[in-house]
Parts: sequence; structure tokens; C-alpha cells
Amino acid sequence: MNMQSTLMEQAKSYLQKYYGYPDFREGQRKIVESVLSGADTLGIMPTGGGKSICYQIPALMLPGLTLVVSPLISLMKDQVDALTTAGVSAAYINSTLSGKEVNDRIRAARRGDLKLLYVAPERLELDWFREEMGSLTISCVAVDEAHCVSQWGHDFRTSYLAVAPFVNGLPNRPIVAAFTATATPEVMDDMTRLLQLREPEIFVTGLGRDNLAMSVLRGENKREFVLNYAKTHGHQPGIVYAATRKEVDDLYERLKQNGIPAGRYHAGLSDKERDGSQEAFLYDDIRVMVATNAFGMGIDKSNVRYVIHYNMPKNMEAYVQEAGRAGRDGEPSECILLFSPQDIMTQKFLIEQNPQDDGRKRNEYRKLQQMIEYCYSTSCLRWGMLDYFGEKHDRKPCGICSSCTDERELVDMTRDAQIVFSCIHRMRERFGVTMVASVLKGSRNKKVLQYGFDSLPTYGMMPRRTEKEISELINVFIAEGYLALSEGQYPVVRLQPLAVDVLKGQHQVMMREPEPVATQTAGSSRRRRGAYDDGPSAVNETIFEQLRLIRRDLAEKERVPSYIIF
Ligand code: ADP
Ligand code: MG
Ligand code: ZN
Repeated sequence: MNMQSTLMEQAKSYLQKYYGYPDFREGQRKIVESVLSGADTLGIMPTGGGKSICYQIPALMLPGLTLVVSPLISLMKDQVDALTTAGVSAAYINSTLSGKEVNDRIRAARRGDLKLLYVAPERLELDWFREEMGSLTISCVAVDEAHCVSQWGHDFRTSYLAVAPFVNGLPNRPIVAAFTATATPEVMDDMTRLLQLREPEIFVTGLGRDNLAMSVLRGENKREFVLNYAKTHGHQPGIVYAATRKEVDDLYERLKQNGIPAGRYHAGLSDKERDGSQEAFLYDDIRVMVATNAFGMGIDKSNVRYVIHYNMPKNMEAYVQEAGRAGRDGEPSECILLFSPQDIMTQKFLIEQNPQDDGRKRNEYRKLQQMIEYCYSTSCLRWGMLDYFGEKHDRKPCGICSSCTDERELVDMTRDAQIVFSCIHRMRERFGVTMVASVLKGSRNKKVLQYGFDSLPTYGMMPRRTEKEISELINVFIAEGYLALSEGQYPVVRLQPLAVDVLKGQHQVMMREPEPVATQTAGSSRRRRGAYDDGPSAVNETIFEQLRLIRRDLAEKERVPSYIIF
């Protein structure tokens, strides 16, 4: 106990001496303490949370060497440069070095002149390297971006699997400390299992940084939005993520045409152009970086004031990692996701394009669905995020996300919900969102007629909304847990217990109606809509008749409890 606190005093003095920071951040202290106590440790912290210090400070205090496994050459270099400048003896070994340089560094390590040595995971697979390392005192192996070991993550890298055999092959097993910003249960399990952590201490901190105002905007004219936003925030650094290179190029051109100092970054550009624009962004020569998700891993720019997602990312892990590049300095910053239903199609297409086994595919669809639900959610987005990552929170609305600041009033949408749920039930829960919307709209498309759905009592019960708007409404019901989608490429909509309560009249549905779908003109969103646009009185009788039939059917279904008697 006493010894522990003296150790932490010493840790703090190193922090002040080498980094000039007065104290550890929330989360860092516990992780440093855990590593210093000799425990395997899994540290989960958002991007910019300060994971590096969690292994660098222990490295200064533990005997011998800390070997850092790091995925990118650029990351290694940045970190080592920063450490060296601060007076810490650190080096990296990677493919950019000559044989002599590599030997010099190994020799320095052998002499005990190095506290930290950075390597890419591939190096751990080389016999000669393993042998060299086996002859040194290695106190700790720190695994950075440790989610790369997991196939469930978004950056799977086979050679991360070499970490565990490497560690096991050392004459004395070092402490293994793993770090990432990805906190889903599957990835956490994988990191523990595949890195063979021994009874690790696990720390999850600060995913919901409260300086970040999260928004999801639906129905925007995206391009106009980005141009206007970049114009009005012209002096502030920001990142715009787009899904494809073509979109990056288009946006980049448009921004330049409008006199906004923009740069671009994607895998289709030359190394020179990429490095050039990255550097220009870091030094504030350009303000807006338009990029694919190839940009940003490990970028240490603390004053990014906004991150705009031009398209919905494939899952929450990717989103949080990218959006988390805003506001690392703790100043108020915005994370804006511009959502359109088209994004869903794109992501599904991408999943289908990618050859992989069924289990993995199913998992990707499931994660995509959770991302979609986040986009349609009308409750506090920060909650949504924290719940997704299983972080405990006090269940206070954040007050600054687009849901919390939505001025539209909650309206009673029970009747709309009942119509939708009835229709799904009548269609035997065997169809997807679009088909249900077609039936509710009263569409005469071939499939509707072929199944005879034009004779359903719910057919055409939402004539005033467009099919797109009905789909949006159904998606909101899914996001709010009334409905669920089955897994797979063509998911079907199913009723959840809560929907049955609504049909029984035991649960009132209070919500904000989704914004109308984009009408190609900017600034059309957030138009207020009443709940009863479909003309309530005209259909009131039929809905009661309708409900009666549904209740009867429901009562006959074995999976529905028999207490539903009307
Ligand atoms: P991560 O790896 O978690 O994304 P980094 O380790 O790169 O984050 O740190 C992000 C930024 O936070 C860096 O600029 C770092 O110097 C700064 N930082 C880390 N710890 C502290 C601290 N205790 N006090 C102030 N700044 C800190
Ligand atoms: Mg990092
Ligand atoms: Zn909120």
C-alpha cells in the first residue's frame, strides 16, 4: 500500500519531468498503477485519451526494456521523436532502417541504453529478432492498437497473432499491457484470449468525452451542408470523412473552388501528396482535411474542432474512433454524422463485396444494424454510444447532442405505431422495411400485388407519407426497440414484445417524428410535422377493426402468450 503510493509519487514526478504535465488524467493513474504492480493490463480509452503515457511511464520505472508493438511506421516515428526530444531513450526498428542501423539499436538495447523499443508486429515473427530479444531483459510488452488482433475489430492484422507466441517464447514472461479505443465485448474478449493476457486488469474510461457534441443529421443535402459548414467554420481545423475516393476528390474540388483551404487524403494518392497534406493539416496550413478512413490513425492533432461524416461508417467502433479525433484538447467540438438511407445500401454492398466466412459476415451485418439504430435513435446519442460500449454512466442526458437539443416536441405516435405494427403482423413478419412501407403506402408494385397484400386491411393506410418517409418511421421504431430486424443481407422486420404492448394499448409511443427525407434543397430538414398527417378520423374505425383482427391472430400464435385476450 505504502510502497504503491511511493511508486505513484515517483510516476507522477516522471510525468512532470519528461512530459511537463502536472498530473495523470482520469484513467491513466489506475492503468499505470496496474502495470507497475506487475499485472497484465487492458487499457481502453478513447482516441486522444492518453494511452501512450500508460506504458511509457512504467517503461521508465521498470528494469530493462519495454517493447512496444505498434501498427504503423509513421506512428512509431512520431512517438520516438517525441520521446527522444523529451529526453527519454527510445528507438524503433522497422523496414526503413539499414542493417547497420538495426544492429546499432539492438546493441544499444543490449547495453541497457534503451527504455523503449518500438516494432511492428511482423517483426515478432522473425527468428533472429526473437533470439535477440530473448537475450535481453524485457519487463513489459506494450501492445498498442490492440484491437488489430481481433477479427471482429475493424483493422484486423494477422501478425498481431504473433504477439502471444513471442511473449511465451521469452525466457522470463514480461508484463503484457494492451491498449485500444475499441471496447466492444467481442473485441475485449479477443484481446484477452488472443494476446493470452493472464487475468488482466481491465480499465475502460472516458468514451463519452463531454466536450464533444454529437449529432446525426438526416435529410440534409450533404454537399451543401459541408460547404456551408466549412465556410462558417473557416478558421477552425476539421476533418470530413467520406466513404469513397471519388467523393473525397469531389468534395475537395468543391471546397477549393469555394476558396476554402482544403487538403485530401486517400489511398489512391501518391505517398508524396498524402504526406504533404497530412503535414499541412498538422501545421494548420490547410483547415479542412477531406479523407477516407485511411486518414487519421494515431494522428496527434489536438485542436480538431469538428469531424463530419459524409457517410455513415460501417460500425460504431469505426465511428467512435474517427469522430474521437475531434476535441482532444478538451475544448468544445462537434461530431456530425450526415446520414442518408443510401449509406445503408453502400455498407451492405461493401460487406457483400468482401469475401469472408458466414459467421463474420453475420457479425458485420449485426454491427451495421447497431450503427443504423444509432443513426435513427431519438434518445441521447451519448447514452447510445456508452451503452453500446458497455461503459457505465449516470444516465443523465448529455444536453448537447442532436437528440438532446432537438426542439421538436414529443408527440403521441401510438396510432401510427399501431398501424405499422399491425401491417407487419399481417404480413407475417416475413418482409423487409421497404416492402412494409410499400404496403402501408398502398403501392401497386408487382411484389405487393403478387402477394395479394393489396387486400390487407392495412393496405394504403398511410397515404400521405412517401414510402421513404414510412421506411424512416419504421427505422425509428427499430432503433427504439419496438421492432427488430433479422440478420443477413435481406433482413425482415419483426415485432418485439414492446410492440405487442403497443398493439394491446398498454404502451403509449411518445417520440419525435423523423425529419422528412431529403428533398434536394438545402436546409429543408427539421421541418415540423404533426403526428396525424395521415388523417386520423377517416381511418379510425378501420384501425379498430384492424386491431381486433390482429389481436385475434396474435392470440392464435403460440409464441405470443395467451393472456392476449380481447
Ligand atoms: P491515444 O494514444 O490514447 O490516442 P496519446 O497517447 O497519443 O492518445 O495522447 C493524446 C494527447 O494527450 C497527447 O498530446 C498527449 O501528450 C496528451 N496527454 C496525455 N496524457 C496527458 C496528461 N496527463 N495531461 C495532459 N496531456 C496529456
Ligand atoms: Mg495511441
Ligand atoms: Zn444527448
